[in-house]
Amino acid sequence: MRFVVIGGDAAGMSAASRAKRNEPDLDVVVLEQTQDVSYSACGMPYAIADSRRQIDELVVRRADVFRQKQGIDLRTGHRVEAIDPQAKQVSGTTLEGRRFELGFDKLLIATGASPRLATIPGGDLPGVMALKNLEDGRAIQGLLAAKTVRSAVILGMGYIALEMCEALRARGPAVDLIKPGPVFLPWLHPDLAAVVKQELEANQVGVHLGRQLQRIESTEKKELRVLSDGPVLKCELALVATGVTPNSRLAERAGLQLGPQKSIHVDKTLLTSCPDIYAAGDCADAVHVVTGRDVWIPLALRANRAGWAAADNATGQRTELPGVAGTAVFKVFDLQVARTGLNVAEAQEAGFDAVETVIQSRSRAHAHPGATTIHVQMVADRRTGILLGTQMVGREGVAHRINAPAVALHAGMTVADFIQCDLAYAPPFGPVWDPLLTAANQLFKTL
Ligand SMILES: Cc1cc2nc3c(=O)[nH]c(=O)nc-3n(C[C@H](O)[C@H](O)[C@H](O)COP(=O)(O)OP(=O)(O)OC[C@H]3O[C@@H](n4cnc5c(N)ncnc54)[C@H](O)[C@@H]3O)c2cc1C
Repeated sequence: MRFVVIGGDAAGMSAASRAKRNEPDLDVVVLEQTQDVSYSACGMPYAIADSRRQIDELVVRRADVFRQKQGIDLRTGHRVEAIDPQAKQVSGTTLEGRRFELGFDKLLIATGASPRLATIPGGDLPGVMALKNLEDGRAIQGLLAAKTVRSAVILGMGYIALEMCEALRARGPAVDLIKPGPVFLPWLHPDLAAVVKQELEANQVGVHLGRQLQRIESTEKKELRVLSDGPVLKCELALVATGVTPNSRLAERAGLQLGPQKSIHVDKTLLTSCPDIYAAGDCADAVHVVTGRDVWIPLALRANRAGWAAADNATGQRTELPGVAGTAVFKVFDLQVARTGLNVAEAQEAGFDAVETVIQSRSRAHAHPGATTIHVQMVADRRTGILLGTQMVGREGVAHRINAPAVALHAGMTVADFIQCDLAYAPPFGPVWDPLLTAANQLFKTL
């Protein structure tokens, strides 16, 4: 039996390794269009921030290890261009331009997501870049190493844009962020979003909201000019970080059912609408554990986990994934920003009678030196008392604290249940009433 995997990063290589562990004699072939496999894209902003670090440090396992130690037939430089579900065959072109065809018994599509490239004129000029794969990371490192970048403009204000503000400021350039929408981080409660915006401004990042981008121009001195309905922003590096879209074109052309935002629709076993074809990672959808609806939330843990589960199911075991809570955390200079579950607008849209509370607490106990503020927002359903979501911002104690409400969402806990949870306490790590318990107590009063 042959298990073919398209895409050689988190979901694809997790699946290939797992399939080989489950069935050592299985013929596992991975087709990856680039020369890079199995790397941590998530680490790129931090590697770029430090001129002593190499982007290649982020490779988790090298291609030859997969080939020689694990017996996986890993073919880099192989771009798949079509899937024929009836003939059970994929076809494509190698980097050298050679056509290939390959039959499969089971197929996994693990093609990830691609940056939503700005359709703005000038988006293809030298110095206009995106950050998705290691090649992008190397190109940005190279530009910074040449010390030609005095200013950078980041188009977009998602988490990668914000992480890159810190990375670029650490390397010296002035940084401006620009986006057409008028609201900074619209998914975050305004009180919490204001704290993040202040952090950017305190680190000399220009935040330009509600600016309609017109075009990017290049001057004779190889300087870029980002033109909008606001002031002209001059730079040597324009980073396009306006979000990503699922790489689902192959699946769509093969007639597979699509889900939210054109992600590939899968069931709890990662099976697509076509027998023997699975999809996992950033290209595929998932069920949201709070709403029970299909969602597209492209994040790394799900990609790795879905790769494993798809491999189990493709090799005759049964593994079901319950879904995702949308738990995420990122760093903006000295701030930690985290969320899990739904905000009020999302909860209302999903039909809940949403109520929320926002509190401020401390990262350490009352008399313990060095405490900083932790901002917590918590959302519940008034009808059932069920916890729907939590957001947090603070300088310490946020990143891992978000995992407590994340687990509560998976368990379908009410706020009353959550209040009774036995959370850890010691003065250096928080008040005796953990900030999450304080928020839950406040929220309970409004139910
Ligand atoms: C800068 C950055 C920071 C991030 N930070 C975080 C973070 O802090 N936390 C977090 O949870 N997530 C983070 N992510 C997201 C995380 O990296 C992704 O969720 C994860 O990589 C998804 O893995 P994947 O295997 O599904 O897709 P990808 O990593 O996109 O891999 C897909 C692979 O498929 C290949 N491919 C695509 N089409 C074809 C084709 N037709 N033929 C052959 N090969 C093909 C691609 O070349 C690629 O190697 C970050 C992403 C970036 C870019």
